[in-house]
Amino acid sequence: MPQPTLPLASDPRRVAYRKPQPWGMAPDLVVHGVMTSDERLWAPVAEGIWSRPLHLSVSGGHYTHVLRVRRSGVLQRHRHSGAVHAYVIRGRWHYLEHDWVAEEGSYVFEPPGETHTLVVPDDCAEMITLFTVHGALMYVDPDGQSIGYDDVFTRIDKYRAHFEAVGFGADHVRQFMR
Ligand code: FE
Repeated sequence: MPQPTLPLASDPRRVAYRKPQPWGMAPDLVVHGVMTSDERLWAPVAEGIWSRPLHLSVSGGHYTHVLRVRRSGVLQRHRHSGAVHAYVIRGRWHYLEHDWVAEEGSYVFEPPGETHTLVVPDDCAEMITLFTVHGALMYVDPDGQSIGYDDVFTRIDKYRAHFEAVGFGADHVRQFMR
């Protein structure tokens, strides 16, 4: 029988926190296999674009997902009402409005208020990026006129429809919600 690893009383660093967590705290959330090959977990967003939800915050108004793009060219133009954090896992992309390129291993902060046009270069077969998006993406024309939007709630609607369609049931989305 393997001996359980018990914390040594002589080493206070190994003693777990033993008081209750705060009342009302949301449960933690762990998603294993983020880059899963199970296609049912990748919800189609548009032609050649999929989204894998990780954390959908209905009380904070933000969401974290992995965006997978297997087509090149201009994807869309949008304005952010909140901050965005991005980490490029594979491939690369850039905005028409900036001269930098987000490459594999790059971190990008997109400030609230910014409008930009997302492009995946032609020689990039697959782009995969983890995004945390606060607030809404407003899709706009080149003059900034709004032509639609996405936020955590439109995302949830789309994930629900997808999970229902692949047989997981719409409520499969609940495990990602906090
Ligand atoms: Fe953006």
